[in-house]
Amino acid sequence: MRCGLLGRTLGHSYSPQIHAYLGDYEYALFEKEPEELEAFLKYGDFTGLNVTIPYKKAVIPYLDALSPAAEALGAVNTIVRRPDGSLFGHNTDYFGFAYLVRQSGLQVAEKKALVLGSGGASNTVVAVLRELGAVPVVISRTGENNYGNLSRHKDAAILVNATPVGMYPNTGVSPVDLRLFPKLEGVLDVIYNPARTQLLLEAEALRLPCANGLWMLVAQAKESAEYFTGTTMDDAVIPAIHGKLAAQMQNIVLIGMPGCGKSTVGALVAQILGRRLMDVDSEIVRLAGKTIPEIFAQDGEAAFRDWETKVLSELGKQSGLVIATGGGCVTMQRNYPLLHQNGYIFWLQRDIEKLPTEGRPLSQANPLETLYARRKERYASFADFTVGNDAAPEDAAAAIISLMGEGI
Ligand code: NAP
Repeated sequence: MRCGLLGRTLGHSYSPQIHAYLGDYEYALFEKEPEELEAFLKYGDFTGLNVTIPYKKAVIPYLDALSPAAEALGAVNTIVRRPDGSLFGHNTDYFGFAYLVRQSGLQVAEKKALVLGSGGASNTVVAVLRELGAVPVVISRTGENNYGNLSRHKDAAILVNATPVGMYPNTGVSPVDLRLFPKLEGVLDVIYNPARTQLLLEAEALRLPCANGLWMLVAQAKESAEYFTGTTMDDAVIPAIHGKLAAQMQNIVLIGMPGCGKSTVGALVAQILGRRLMDVDSEIVRLAGKTIPEIFAQDGEAAFRDWETKVLSELGKQSGLVIATGGGCVTMQRNYPLLHQNGYIFWLQRDIEKLPTEGRPLSQANPLETLYARRKERYASFADFTVGNDAAPEDAAAAIISLMGEGI
């Protein structure tokens, strides 16, 4: 059986990985230009397809029949070649978003739900919300309800982002300021990369329940796989695959006092998991063309912190890295969203007497106890997990890997 994903540019797709977990069939990426679409659908070598941007509507004229959901939404994301050669179009995004709502635990019935964006994902979100009894309102840049008159909707209880705003690689931007909506009970984002868009980081900061689009992605893939294989699968595969993927996609970020073993433990974790280790201080030295003591002596600490934030904003939005940070990165609150957007943050703790100071300007200039007393609240506020590193670094590495497995 030959299946795959049809789209125009598919560089960062997670679908092959998800389908590898779902079934024993080939899953290829089919990148096609619009003028190639007709010939591919008529004569292409496939038994099943997923369809993504920009072809979810464009494929419809070449299909022989549509499911009721695909018909109602005017969009197809799954195509199956039937035994007689005819093509049948489904829409499994509908099931995917319904699953995301269920998984989030949000109660949407009879609630006003703002849906940002008016494209394909928005259509699906609106249809599911209506089915669940919510009262959706679409916010569109050019619609009657737009970003200029959001104050009309201060009573909104649910907010769903169905725009690409905040998606990798253009992270760090949010389509709306959540503080405008005092009655908000929860926020969903159909984006899954990064794991926490700026919108979701803001929701977290306001302690609002929230979830990203990875549940939707995995759930829609599961229903597609059922159509491809003609079998039914237990919904339990969805959390199992979601857990694996969430762990693989996100970075492992190490924070802690200078000399606590971040680079050594990071190298071990990277080696065991087959990940790339990125050492933030080494990146700064490479980009600045100076050693760290030289940056401090010639340009001052503020210049060093700017270099650090610049490096973290590049590394923090990548996927699947191990990132060993510098000991003082927690002194800048602006670094938190950069590290947290797509990473789990581990605070590596080591006895102060065991910390070396050579080549570390701040550790030499300040008694380590003072530095630690100043920073420990910051480490605690950044950390998702705390791991001791007073014994062998292998033990700390094993603890981090085990927490990655259990913590998601
Ligand atoms: P789309 O058809 O291109 O629609 C996106 C909509 O977002 C547009 O119609 C536009 O609405 C709005 N928009 C676009 N750029 C914007 C900007 N710079 N500022 C504010 N609004 C903007 O795309 P789509 O297929 O609906 O996908 C939207 C997002 O959902 C993408 O990030 C996609 O990856 C994600 N998605 C995720 C899943 C999943 O399984 N998790 C499934 C499908 C899609 P207005 O012009 O009305 O403002």
